[in-house]
Amino acid sequence: MSRTEYKNWRKAVFERDNYACQHPGCDKRGGWMNADHIKPWAYYPELRYDVNNGRTLCVEHHRLTFKDVFKHRKIGSPCEIRTHDLCLEGAAS
Ligand SMILES: [Zn+2]
Repeated sequence: MSRTEYKNWRKAVFERDNYACQHPGCDKRGGWMNADHIKPWAYYPELRYDVNNGRTLCVEHHRLTFKDVFKHRKIGSPCEIRTHDLCLEGAAS
C-alpha cells in the first residue's frame, strides 16, 4: 500500500470531479471532501488506484456510503471496509 499512490489517486478523482460532491442532488463543493471508492478496495485490489473507481463525496454523503456497506455486506473486520483515510493511515505505519 503506497501512501503516495493513494494521494495521487485521490487528487486525480477530486480534479476530475472539480472538487464537487457527486451524490445526486448535492451541491457541496470544495472544503473537506472525501474520495470514495465505488467498489471497495478490500474486494477489488486491482481498482484501488483506478480513477474511474473513485468519486468525490462530501463528508456527510461519504458517511452514508459507509452505512450502506455495513448494512449490505458481511465483513470480516471493520477496517476491511474502512476504505478511506482512517484505514490507510493505519496501514501505512
Ligand atoms: Zn454531498
